[in-house]
Amino acid sequence: MSRVFNFSAGPACLPLEILEEAKEELLDYAGTGKSIMESSHRSPEYDHIHNEAQDLFKELLGLNDDFKVLFFGGGASAQFAMLPMNFLKEGQVADYVVTGTWSKKAVKEAKLFGDVNIAADPSVDGNFVRIPKAEELRLSENAAYLHLTSNNTIAGTQWHDFPDVKCPLVADMSSDFLWRPFDANKFSMIYAGAQKNLGPSGVCAVIIRKDFLESAKEKVPSMFSYGVQAEKNSLFNTPPCFPIYMVGKNLRWLKNKGGLAALERENRAKGELLYGTIGKHADYYRCPVDVDSRSLMNVVFRLPTEALEKKFIAEAKEKGMIGLKGHRSVGGIRVSIYNAVSINAVQSVCDFMESFLKENG
Ligand SMILES: *Cc1c(COP(=O)(O)O)cnc(C)c1O
Repeated sequence: MSRVFNFSAGPACLPLEILEEAKEELLDYAGTGKSIMESSHRSPEYDHIHNEAQDLFKELLGLNDDFKVLFFGGGASAQFAMLPMNFLKEGQVADYVVTGTWSKKAVKEAKLFGDVNIAADPSVDGNFVRIPKAEELRLSENAAYLHLTSNNTIAGTQWHDFPDVKCPLVADMSSDFLWRPFDANKFSMIYAGAQKNLGPSGVCAVIIRKDFLESAKEKVPSMFSYGVQAEKNSLFNTPPCFPIYMVGKNLRWLKNKGGLAALERENRAKGELLYGTIGKHADYYRCPVDVDSRSLMNVVFRLPTEALEKKFIAEAKEKGMIGLKGHRSVGGIRVSIYNAVSINAVQSVCDFMESFLKENG
């Protein structure tokens, strides 16, 4: 078996240990004589997986019973619509900070349900290279909530401090959830599609404050209602059992590594290595992102020409490094270095950058 170094933005690299565990259990989960994929979502074995995953989220984030952990299908994109469907009421405005493609999509959905105020949009000519400062935010008096995208998977920007606001704060943390410790108590709702930093695709985790939940609108279809899902413990209908099982394994893996503080140290070391290499050769590898807005999850940069970028991606692939192509909307190179990407993998990209520059600089 030969595994590649996978720098894909998502679905992304998973820890080998948890894939092996899943393989081990695939045909006979915990002596039940069947796969967890073949088990009822009402069975005791699945029940345990479901509840343990919820508990691990709370434990890793240091949350008390003021919060509920919910699981939804439909990816983070479904949340773009569900959030305003549940919480944007008549006479209110939803505040959105626009920092890239994903926040723009969230705005588009919110506009279907009510009034939207763009609290900040730091783009220049359609390019997003920075996160706005807290004092730049123009917040509404009667805001239902303020929505932000904590990490911009395509632009390679990331919020390093979250603003203090009076209205409920909501974040799409799909591409950087659980990369470091942070004050989750500050948020009324956090959602994250699993396939970047949490597990395989197919499930979106939602962490929601009970008091926020109670303020939701009443007439919402059951499948899209946070209230109904909370009441049914995310078992209103058949949940994505297998992805939840994998998320649970990943959370246990994070915990066993030493939790979020240990992960932050590792993620910062990976980022320093990669940004260090870029910085050392800044006239060849150009990172378009402002220094204090740079993402430690998705590192983007350009080479002098598109032809060189193509060559870089092709040669890296030959050396077993894949997923380095920037998003089709922006081009360039993108190295996604989520929790499961090892420092060895990052070192090998840096070594390759050095040798590529020697031969093509
Ligand atoms: C990938 C991504 C999404 C979309 O996720 P889906 O699960 O495909 O709907 C939304 N927001 C961010 C920040 C993302 O990185």
